[in-house]
Formats: sequence, C-alpha cells, structure tokens
Amino acid sequence: MNYEFPITKTTNPKQKPDPKGLRFGTEFTDHMFVMDYNPEDGWNNGRIVPYGPIELDPAAVVLHYGQEMFEGLKAYKTPEGRVQLFRPYMNAQRTNNTNDRLCIPTIDEELFVAAIKALVKLDQDWIPEGEGTALYIRPFIFADEPFLGVRRSTTYKFMIILSPVGPYFESGLAPTKMYVEDVYVRAVKGGTGEAKCGGNYGASLKAQEIAHEKGYEQILWLDGIEKKYIEEIGAANAFFVIGDEVVTSELNGSILPGITRNSIIALCKKKGIKVSERKISIDELEEAYRAGQLKEMFASGTAAIVSPVGELLYKGERMIINDNQIGPVAQEMYDTIYGIQTGKIEDFM
Ligand code: PMP
Repeated sequence: MNYEFPITKTTNPKQKPDPKGLRFGTEFTDHMFVMDYNPEDGWNNGRIVPYGPIELDPAAVVLHYGQEMFEGLKAYKTPEGRVQLFRPYMNAQRTNNTNDRLCIPTIDEELFVAAIKALVKLDQDWIPEGEGTALYIRPFIFADEPFLGVRRSTTYKFMIILSPVGPYFESGLAPTKMYVEDVYVRAVKGGTGEAKCGGNYGASLKAQEIAHEKGYEQILWLDGIEKKYIEEIGAANAFFVIGDEVVTSELNGSILPGITRNSIIALCKKKGIKVSERKISIDELEEAYRAGQLKEMFASGTAAIVSPVGELLYKGERMIINDNQIGPVAQEMYDTIYGIQTGKIEDFM
C-alpha cells in the first residue's frame, strides 16, 4: 500500500541549531506527524502539521494509567547527500510487540515506516552534519480517551517528532563509570521490560539519580528476582568481552531487544568473532575481572551506538576495565555500524 499524508507547512520556520554545540534531545524540527485511532476507522487521518503543543483532555487514560509506548531511531545523510534510516522495520516490529503488551492497537509496519519517511523527507534539512550527529526520530503512541476506569482506552494518538542530536554522552566515546544497582530493579519477568513503554523509564529515574550522586554515569541493572544476573546498562544493552568471547545477556522477557544489540551480534558473526547470548552473572564478571579475562565492556543503543565502560562499582569494589580505554571490539562495532548508518560502509544485513 502506498501511503500519502496531507502536509500543513509551518509559516514560522525555526532557526537550525549549530551542529557543533548539539546536545541530545533539546531541539525539535519544524513539523510533526499525527494520526488518530478509533474503533470504527482504525488508524486514520495521518497528517503532517507544524511542530507544537497538543491539547489533551485531563482525564486522558495515558495521564492516569500510563498506557503509552515510544520508539527511537535515527536518520543520517550519506556523503552523496542521500537520506538514510537504520533498520526502521525493526522499530516497526518492536512497536507492535510493545503495543500488544500494552493493549494498544497494532500499526501496519508499512504505515509506520511511511509516516517516518514522509516527515524526515519534509524536515531533511534538519539532519545535522558532523561526526556523531544525526536526526533522532521519536515515534510514540498514547491513549487519549477521557475515562477514569482502569481498562484499555478506545482512542489513541500516534505521533512522530524529530530532534537533531549530537553525541548522547557529552564525553563521546570516552569510557563511562558504571554503578551496579543492587537495591532497585528495572524490570521483572512477566512485567514490561521487553516493551518500550514510558513506565519503565519513569521507574528507573531514582536509581539513576542515586548513581549520579555517587559520581557514576550509568547503572548496570541486575535481574529483578535474584539480583544475580546482568540485564541491561541504563537504557542500553550490555556487552562484555570475556577472554575471546563477546557476551550479551540472553533475551528473557525483562530485557529490551535492542536493534543495535541485534546488529552487533550479526556483525560479530559475520566477522567470525565468537559471540554468545547467554545468562551472565555479576559473580562471573567479577571472577573474569580478577582473572584478567574481562577485556571490555560496553553499552549498545541507538543513542550512542556503542558506549564503552571504563569502571564498574559493585558492593564497594571498583573494577577498572581495559585501563579505562575504549577496547578494539567496541571501536570496531562503533566504526562499522556508524559507517553503515552514514552510508560509508555497505550494509551486510
Ligand atoms: N535497552 C533499553 C532499556 C533501551 O531503552 C534501549 C534504547 N532503545 C536499548 C536497550 C537499546 O535499544 P536500541 O539498540 O534499539 O536503541
């Protein structure tokens, strides 16, 4: 199906930010995509309108019971000036998995991707140029029926906003310090950990603030039952190089299946690097560290692609990883994936 959307252009275009000073998620482009859902028409009335505030009934279900979801991906310009998205159908699939968990109606994958493409095409001049910059795409859906009973909403809005971004961490690819959280948990099996819904993030803020107060940038989350197995790193997936094996936690229902994670696993396999998706405990990590086998640790996600970890604090013990330097596997993954995203390296998937 060929989707087209009516466009109302802004009469008041904004000044584009200087790509040099760009931070993450503070500036927004001139337009946004909006689409409605009701039981009679399904998803309907997809349109592009000037970026701006929206009106919401104070009784909207999302404001009370958090029935909503979001996604995140990026658009880049290739050296020839072509606009390129990175694996948008994977975001469409993950959207529908999240929607299913949150009782939100699913969206045709083609419609999801067509909406992103139409908006990015209109605002393509906002794609910044420069190392580490991109146009971040934030699709999201929320329940807008005014109703205070606890049940699924009958109406929804699907929106997309765009934000020109610089590196997620101001430190760029410099290794970060990480705090192993052993009081709070991010998600439990049977909960919403593998869905991309706002509640997961709201619930993570307290632990993040405590880690920041202690001088640590990120959190290493342990499983919600035994607090023994490694789950994720902040809002990213966790990778370790132990001896000659690249390891990431297996998807178990409480871990978000990252698109970057998927790409790294595929890239390792393609390059003949030994890679495993398996359970990995904090004790195994500690032992590997003591035996000098914990060679690298890094986080993976759309925002930073790869973010090396230089220090880990667990129950008072500080582990310094790879001499606080980015390691060869993290560097290779970053270079290759960023190269594919920006059209400088041919995609292998
Ligand atoms: N885990 C969590 C909790 C996240 O929020 C993200 C970011 N979407 C990721 C992992 C990484 O996913 P992706 O590679 O698709 O950005």
